[in-house]
This record gives sequence, structure tokens and C-alpha cells, in this order.
Amino acid sequence: MKKVKTRFAPSPTGMLHVGSLRTALYNYLFAKHNKGDFILRIEDTDKARFVEGSIESLIKTLNLTGLEYSEGVFRAEALAPSNKALTPDKIAQKGDFGPYVQSERLDIYRKYVDELIKNDYAYFCFCSQERLEEMRKDQQAKKMAPMYDGKCRGLSKKNSPFQKGGKGGFVVRLKTPKEGFTEFKDLIYGKIKIENKIIDDQVLMKSDGYPTYHLANVVDDHLMEISHIIRGEEWLPSTPKHILLYKAFGWDIPEFAHLPLLLNPDKSKLSKRQGDVAVEDYLKKGYLPEALLNFILLLGWNPKTEEEIFSLDEMIKRFDLSGVNKTGAIFNTEKLDWINGNYIREMDLGELTKLCVPYLVEAGLIKKVSSIKYQVLSTDKEADFDYLKKVVALEQERTKKLSEIGELVKFIFVDRLEYEKDLLVWKRMSFKEVKNNLELAYNELEKIDENNFTKNNLEKILRDLMEREGIKTGELLWPLRVALTGLKGSPGPFEVGEVLGKGKVLGRIDFAIKSLE
Ligand code: GLU
Repeated sequence: MKKVKTRFAPSPTGMLHVGSLRTALYNYLFAKHNKGDFILRIEDTDKARFVEGSIESLIKTLNLTGLEYSEGVFRAEALAPSNKALTPDKIAQKGDFGPYVQSERLDIYRKYVDELIKNDYAYFCFCSQERLEEMRKDQQAKKMAPMYDGKCRGLSKKNSPFQKGGKGGFVVRLKTPKEGFTEFKDLIYGKIKIENKIIDDQVLMKSDGYPTYHLANVVDDHLMEISHIIRGEEWLPSTPKHILLYKAFGWDIPEFAHLPLLLNPDKSKLSKRQGDVAVEDYLKKGYLPEALLNFILLLGWNPKTEEEIFSLDEMIKRFDLSGVNKTGAIFNTEKLDWINGNYIREMDLGELTKLCVPYLVEAGLIKKVSSIKYQVLSTDKEADFDYLKKVVALEQERTKKLSEIGELVKFIFVDRLEYEKDLLVWKRMSFKEVKNNLELAYNELEKIDENNFTKNNLEKILRDLMEREGIKTGELLWPLRVALTGLKGSPGPFEVGEVLGKGKVLGRIDFAIKSLE
């Protein structure tokens, strides 16, 4: 097999879309699995859809996901880490086949357009917008597929407006054959065969001198020696035009693999209206990049095992285009939550806490005082990183995304809990019984030295108490847990007790007792 080389070729029209991330991931995995190269090219030939700053944001987000590429467009800082003068959004290029930004390759496309015209595979078209518009309307009325009618196909190519230095007023179109078929084998969809007469005379170069996607894409994939083109299904209908171009140039045709659509849960095409589609939004919400990739891997690829959690290395080992489905894949955020929760549970606590700190700050629970010191906003007390680690540990099991952490651990930081006293009651107990049990607990806990206020110690002392007094577990631990957390669901009272410390624990029990009076 020829050396495998794949590319991710986003257009800078906004933030990185989750569907594009899947395209990038599959290209990356396919290349790595086959010991090949993966590169990044920017396809910015559609000036009308260009969004300022989006090249920088695409690269930044792609870098956060950890999908590394060997050629293309990079953050300048990443290529020259010692150069302190570089601003974070400065970009630079690396590789032997550049430039990798299409708007910097206009001369190259011009040369190839000339070649096509010379060999009669393309022609100048001078039809006005009005004429094209009328033609389209007419075709619509007759229920015909919209297509250029070929008016300029027969014009002499001798008087090239290029040579006259002409700009504007004309485009260059592909001269598609009127007979025969174009066929190719898609690695996912199988054999595709199209009658040439239904292939439109695609515009290859626009009146502004820019190539269209079709021309630039084919020229670049060839010059950059791309072996496999893996991209979204929306490009499948364009592929016959691309094949015609490869043939016109006399170039080898690369392999094609088109990926099924991503769908909303109601099976419509994944759209902003039904939820976030930008990778950046998911990262902001506290989905870990590894978890997001793992989730995206399974959107359209069948691992053929029950396993669902894969590290990037495992993905590389297993990935194969034969596992890609033909049918659309539903973007199910519950599954994403589940996968992310798995990754959070497996994470090193220190790492996790580092990632949680900004969310705790944002939730207004703590303030950063120095790189290791924080201040609890409700009490003005200091909290160091080790303390925050203990707080995060309480909810590591339950956290599905980092943005939830503030809400989950708020009860630790607040000065005063708010809850209905009914919540303190376990099953059919009376307020009096609840109060009595809390008093017993208070008296025992008061005796413990502040330095021994550990989870294990609390557990031992309270279990002894229950045994001695013949109290059932729920009768003591439920009211105690609610007194300490004010919540219907929370971690258990022993671990919460250790994190709160003796002073806060006694204060909260006392508050509960008073509320029952
Ligand atoms: N620039 C195209 C896009 O953003 C890439 C299509 C392709 O991979 O050929 O969808």
C-alpha cells in the first residue's frame, strides 16, 4: 500500500464543530493506525463565509483535543516555544508541501486552471448572475435539477480573459462529459456510479480569481500527496466532479471514505437549535478532551466489542474504516455524560482538582489568593489546595462534567445551610427522636480531638454509639447527613464530617437541633 497520508481540511467559517472533530479524529486514527501522516490544511477560498479569527480558534481547539498533526498550520508558539515575542493567536506553517492555507496558493490554482482550459477540460463562462438566476427559476418551474445549461461551453478558448489581465465578469467551469459514467468505490458506501450527463459544469474558478472548493481541494490533495480522503457525507455528491478533475489532470485517484451524518436525538441533522455543536462549548462545560474524543469515536464507528472506554492509544490500535457505519449516528449527550463521568472517576485527584478550581471560582465559592492559596468567599477563611482536593474527592464519583462541581460541593462552603426541617426525618421518626439522636451524636463528636476528626474515626465512634444505644443506621446517619449537608442526596456523613472539620460539624448539628425545637 502507498504511504498513508490523511488531512483535516476545515473551512474557517466559525468554531470547530463536533462533526468536524469526528472527521479530524477518524483521519488522525486512520493515519496513525497505518503508520502514516496526518496534516492540517485550511480551506479558505469562500471569502463570503470567512469568519475573522476562526483559523486561530480552530487550531486552538484542535490542539486542546490532543490530535497532533505533522504538517500544516500551527500556533506559532508551538513551533517556536522559546520565542517569547509571539502572541498566543499568531499562526505559522510547517511542512514541505505548503503553503497550507488555500488563499496563499492562488497562483498554483491559476496554473492548473490554465492547464485544464488548454486541454479542453474547462471553459470560460461569461453568463451574468441575472441569466443564471433566470435559468435556475425556469428549471425549478419545470421541476428539473438546477444545472448550468452549457451556453458558454462552445466559446473559443483562444481569447483567454486571463491573458488580457481580465478580472471579473467571467468564471471557469468544468467541461463535464455528456456521455458515459463516472464511478468510484467509496470505502464506506461501496461502489457509486453516476451518469456524466447529470454532473453539473461546476464552477472551478470564481470571478474574483479564487478557486472554488472543488478545484482547490483536488489540486491540494494531489500536491500534498494525500492517499485517503475521509470526510463528511455531505461531500459524497461532489466526489464525481472531483474524480473527473483527477482524470482530467491525469493524476492517481485517492481513496475516498465518506462518514455518515451526525443526528439530533429526533434524527434530524445535528443542529445548533437542538443543543451545542461547537467543540469549544463542550470543553467549557467541563467535558474532558479525552472523553469527548472517546464519545465522538463511537458516533459512527463500531468497536465490535462491549467495551466503550478507549484511550487515544487504544483507539489508534483498533480503528479501522470497516467499522464505520453507513447510517447516521445520534449525538446523545447522556452517553457523553456517562463517558465523561468515567474519565473523571479515573482521574488523578490532584489533576482533577486543578481542573475544578476555575469552576469553583466561577461558582463564587472560592477566590484565588496566590498560586496555592484560596479564600472561601462565604467565610473569608483560607483554603489550601490540599483542602480543595478533599472537597473535590467528595464528589469525584458523582461528577459528570466539571461545570457541575460548584453546585455539587456548594454545601461545604456556605456559611449557613437552608433546608426544611422535615428533611431531617428518617422514615416514621418523630422530630423528638431525630433531635434526641442528633444530640447523642453531638455529645460524642464533641469529645473527639480536632486533629482526630477523620472519616474513619467518625465512623468508628458513631457506629459504637448506635450499637450502644440500639439505634438503627438510618435513624442516626440520615438526620446527621442532612444536618451536615442540607441535601436529600450527598456523600455520607463521615467523609463530609472530615472535610467540614469539628467546628463546622458541631455548628451544623446544633443548628439542626435548634430547628427541631
Ligand atoms: N473544507 C471542507 C469542509 O470544511 C472540507 C471537505 C473535504 O474534506 O474535502 O467541510
